[in-house]
Amino acid sequence: MHRKMTFVVSGPSGVGKGTICDRLVKEMDSLALSVSCATRPPRPLKDGGMEQDGVHYHFITPERFQTMIDEGDFYEYACVHNSYYGTSRSFVKQQMDAGNDVILEIEMQGALQVKAADPDAVLIFILPPSYEELRRRLVGRQSETPEQVEKRLSDAAGQLAFAYIYDYLVINDDLDQAVEDVAEIIRASRLRARANKKLLDDFKRSFQEVK
Ligand code: ADP
Ligand code: 5GP
Repeated sequence: MHRKMTFVVSGPSGVGKGTICDRLVKEMDSLALSVSCATRPPRPLKDGGMEQDGVHYHFITPERFQTMIDEGDFYEYACVHNSYYGTSRSFVKQQMDAGNDVILEIEMQGALQVKAADPDAVLIFILPPSYEELRRRLVGRQSETPEQVEKRLSDAAGQLAFAYIYDYLVINDDLDQAVEDVAEIIRASRLRARANKKLLDDFKRSFQEVK
């Protein structure tokens, strides 16, 4: 059984990260999606409902977020669009102890913190097929005001400049293909030799016993 690992999925707002990650955790074994803490308020959803506390994010106050920073509770955190977002260290540990790999849908500053803490973490950047299609998806999602859409599109350009720090690039044109591409990256990473040191040691031991 491979050593449990972290997969980071980043990309411009509206590219389809959430859609892809939801599909992956439904379709793959032993993969848990981290629910981040965020200081922004819940947003309306396309279906008319609202984002739910504990499902989309743990919505907490800036004061609570600061206390969690002070107590070292975050595996990584960052300030995005004037709100704070962070990954709970204990959530990641609990999931790994339960036998799951963990997928983090986070932005680039957080991705860098994860890679610094764990060089074996696998960083995946999702690209849109084009700028026009990214705009169509952001507008079609109906969860941002026109000003927020423009802000997110201009942020996207900045993020693309750093996409080369990631281990893999996946283009989300056809959704099924993008989900399959990320699933293949996960399957291959789970087979890495250095993630399977225990398996190799067990084999070596069994060979010595036969001799
Ligand atoms: P993100 O989490 O990256 O901000 P979402 O997962 O919310 O993006 O997706 C943004 C919008 O684009 C949603 O309305 C989603 O249904 C749509 N979408 C996602 N992937 C595709 C795709 N391959 N083709 C067309 N629309 C897509
Ligand atoms: P949104 O407000 O659209 O849900 O998220 C805004 C940005 O914050 C997205 O790029 C998303 O990936 C990122 N994000 C969400 N959770 C976290 C987190 O825990 N840590 C970091 N670093 N970024 C996050």
